Amino acid sequence: MLVIKRYLRHESADLCVMCDDARWPGLNCRGHQYAVLPGGHVEAGETIEEAALRELREETTLEARIDRLLWTGLHNGRPAEYFLMADVVGTPVLSGPEAEAHSENNSFELLWAGPDMLEPLGLHPADLVPHLTKLLAKEQAQVVHSAMRLRKAAAAASSPTVWMESAGWRPHNQR
Ligand SMILES: [Zn+2]
Repeated sequence: MLVIKRYLRHESADLCVMCDDARWPGLNCRGHQYAVLPGGHVEAGETIEEAALRELREETTLEARIDRLLWTGLHNGRPAEYFLMADVVGTPVLSGPEAEAHSENNSFELLWAGPDMLEPLGLHPADLVPHLTKLLAKEQAQVVHSAMRLRKAAAAASSPTVWMESAGWRPHNQR
């Protein structure tokens, strides 16, 4: 499946939620390695499915179609929807805001990850790992897969936002 490998280091630990969570002492953020599924926000007038396809295109340049809704869950406390993507076309190339933000202390790397790589990569949120491992075991025999996840904004949020992440076992033509 396609993941975005992240490295993020803030100027100061005070500004860093992850340092806060880890209760690391000191003033300097030590930097954090993890991975997420591709994600994004739903824009006004857009369905979640449209946002999923747009974000996949914007972040990775890949085109696909939504196969089905896989499951719903929570991402950082917000409702999330996960989709399986099919008929993926193209070669993933980091693009859009992620490519613009890419720097030494805030890096984004697209990576095809097998089920055994999810834990070592620190896939966030971690409760996705068993779902994805099971999915990949079932889907591995097939040709093209990618899952996409959308995180709906809290109902109270003033503007519609959705996070979306994608995953799928690597297409045969890109192995
Ligand atoms: Zn930090």
